[in-house]
Order: sequence, then structure tokens, then C-alpha cells
Amino acid sequence: MSSVGTTNATLAVSDPDLSIDEMREVFRQWMTDHAAELERFRTLPTDVDEIFSGHGAALQRLLYDAGWVRLGWPADVGGIGGVVAHRALVGEELVLAGYPTPFSFATQEVMGPALARYGSPELRTEFVPRLLRGQESWCQGFSEPGAGSDLGSLRTKAVERGDDWVITGEKIWTSWAQYASRCFVLARTGTQESAHRGITAFFVDMDTPGITRSPLRAITGQDDFSSLHFDNVVVPKARVIGEVNGGWGVSMFILGCERGAAAWQRQAWMRWQLEQLVAQSPDLSDEAVGEAFELISALRLLARRTLRALSAGEELGVRPSFDKYVMSTAEKFLFDAALKSMPERLLLADDHESTDWRNDYLYSRASSIYGGAKEIQRNIIAERILGLPREK
Ligand SMILES: Cc1cc2nc3c(=O)[nH]c(=O)nc-3n(C[C@H](O)[C@H](O)[C@H](O)COP(=O)(O)OP(=O)(O)OC[C@H]3O[C@@H](n4cnc5c(N)ncnc54)[C@H](O)[C@@H]3O)c2cc1C
Repeated sequence: MSSVGTTNATLAVSDPDLSIDEMREVFRQWMTDHAAELERFRTLPTDVDEIFSGHGAALQRLLYDAGWVRLGWPADVGGIGGVVAHRALVGEELVLAGYPTPFSFATQEVMGPALARYGSPELRTEFVPRLLRGQESWCQGFSEPGAGSDLGSLRTKAVERGDDWVITGEKIWTSWAQYASRCFVLARTGTQESAHRGITAFFVDMDTPGITRSPLRAITGQDDFSSLHFDNVVVPKARVIGEVNGGWGVSMFILGCERGAAAWQRQAWMRWQLEQLVAQSPDLSDEAVGEAFELISALRLLARRTLRALSAGEELGVRPSFDKYVMSTAEKFLFDAALKSMPERLLLADDHESTDWRNDYLYSRASSIYGGAKEIQRNIIAERILGLPREK
């Protein structure tokens, strides 16, 4: 293997222009060669603090140093070339080999591309590499009490003051905000009536004075989200992502990545979970396995189309709504099957593996809400893709 790039570590990726299949083989070989080093990443810690601060960051760093999470990114953001589909195969192969992908992969695929695409040269070159190295994580401050599905009605306000914007308002359901160093905040810079045309995206440091994070406990018992209060938070103008009043386009791109590229990782994870379920629960009916397999395979095909579009630099448009819709259907079906086939274990057992099944089952209930509720995806598919009459 030759050495490419700028870190001191030896990169495993000698040629970023390899085809997807060739790269897959190189990555599999790397995993085999580094099995001893990877062994500790086979089990996710139960403690979320540990997942973010220790386990996830360490795996991300290992993959960064070997070049794997630098694949598919341009050189100015710390990448070594290749296409988006190269990034996708790394997450897929990791999970299929039994190493749960770090949570940071989701942020990397959802918010990383948005900063790389819409951020100023200064922002993208400074911050994307930090994300890829696992040095920091970011959160997504879109939803508000009263503005979830109807995001265009959000009320958090940004007022211009000299070289800064001053943000005031409230965000809710901000996933993993307590671990985030930065937040993509959508705020109103136009009138309330300007709806989605008067929204700007900001890249905000979470330690800026005036930000209060209040953790919100999920049904799993973990503080999965926070509500965020912004009280006259001063954000330099250089932290605007994209154009002033152009935040809607940035947010739709982010949601497209969340509904599409991140769905690819999710389908790989679901395939692996289905294999585990089949191995661990002999009572699972052939029908349930077949149906889950069918849904996961459909998601795989849809997500592959989205990845190809991203790799080719095409606009995603609203098509990832299909991916999101099928993703939440598949996820619920899979974990319903798990509950049906091992109810006592899933509901009552306390060992690490059973607790993971229980938490994954509970989280699967949210799959039809986060990233845009299922009903909203149905509306988008009906109105914008099938051309049915619009909602009044
Ligand atoms: C696990 C999880 C993680 C999340 N993480 C984040 C995050 O990191 N950042 C962030 O900003 N947000 C996050 N969210 C919030 C999420 O984006 C919102 O919950 C979602 O967009 C729905 O908004 P809402 O909760 O306000 O529900 P509402 O918009 O009030 O919807 C309530 C119900 O009404 C339905 N409904 C609403 N409008 C229509 C319509 N026009 N037609 C048909 N049905 C409709 C919805 O489908 C839903 O079933 C997260 C949510 C979850 C569950």
C-alpha cells in the first residue's frame, strides 16, 4: 500500500479512483488485516457518553488515519478523492462485518455534505476535516415547538447587527445536542409571512454565550435529544451558510441527504439485524423474513439511486422522500418481527444484547417521524412526484 495524503499515518487507500467493487475488496482486506485493532468496536457501549466521547471518536479516527473516511471527499476538506459511493461502502462493509457504524457517520453524511457544498471556503476547509477526524460532532437545529412538519413557519429570529446576526428563539428535538460542538441553526431573517423564503442557515458554535441546552429523555431512558434556547446569541456574519434568506435550499439538501445517503447506512444495518434475528430466533416465520428482506432490498435500490445522484453531483430533488418512506416502513416491520418472535427477551431481559434489541425496537418507532414524518413524505410523493392535487 502506498501512502497518500497529509497525515503521518500510512493510508490504506492507494488509489481513490478504484471502482466500487475493487475498493470494497481493498477495504475487506484492510478489515481482515486490522481485525485485532477493530475487535473492541464490535460492541457499542451502553453509555451514550462513551459512544460519543470514546468509542465512536476512536473508530472514526482509526478510519480517518487509514484514509477510509477521507474517501469521496475533495482535498480541500481533508479528502483524498473518489466518489460518494466509496464513502457508502465503508459504512456498509463495517456493519456487515459486525462493527456497528459510529453515530458520527450519520452526521458526516447528513451535515458534512451541506457544509462542503454551501459553506464559505473558510468554513468548509476548517470544519469538515474536524468532523471527518472525529474531533467534533454537530447537531441539526431545525424543529421548533410548533414548527416540525411545517418547518417553513419557524419563529427563531436572527436580527442583523453590524458584522453579526443576533439569534433568539427555541429549538426542540435536537438529537445529541449535548455532545455537539456546532449546530446548523435555521432562523428567520425575513418576515413571518415570507415563510420558507425568509429563512437563513447559520453554523453556530454551541459554546456561544446565550445558548442553553436542556436534555430531553427518550423512552429508551437515554437523553437522545435536547431543547435549545437561544437568548441574544451573537453569530458572526461569516457563519451564514449559503445566502441570507437561502436557508430553505440548504435545509432541503440536508433533509435529502438524511432521507437518501443516510438511508444507505440504515439499510446495511437493517440487513445485518435481519441476519441476527434469523440466527437468534428460530420461531420467526418465513413470511416475516421474506417481507422484511423485500422491504430492505427495496430500500437498498432506492438509496443506491440517491447515492448515484450524489456521486454525479445531480440535484436530489424530492425523490429521497421515497427512500425515507420505505426506510421507516422497513424498520418498523423488522422490529415488529423481532418483538413477535422473541417478546420476553426483547421486553424483559437485561443482558447487553437484549437491551440493544429493546432500544432498537423503541427507536424504530421514531423512524416514521425524524427527518420528516411519514405522512409528509406521502404528501410529497403524491403532490410533487405523482402530480396529485395539492393539499388545501
Ligand atoms: C428520534 C428523533 C430525532 C429527531 N432529531 C431532530 C434533530 O436532530 N433536529 C431537528 O431539528 N428535529 C429533530 N427531530 C424532530 C422531527 O424532525 C419532527 O418531530 C418531525 O419533523 C415532525 O414534527 P413535529 O414533531 O412537530 O410533529 P407535527 O408536525 O406536529 O406532526 C404531528 C403529526 O401530524 C402529522 N401531520 C402534520 N402535518 C401534516 C400534513 N400537512 N399532512 C398530513 N399529516 C400531517 C404528522 O405526520 C405527524 O404524524 C427528531 C425527531 C425524532 C423523533
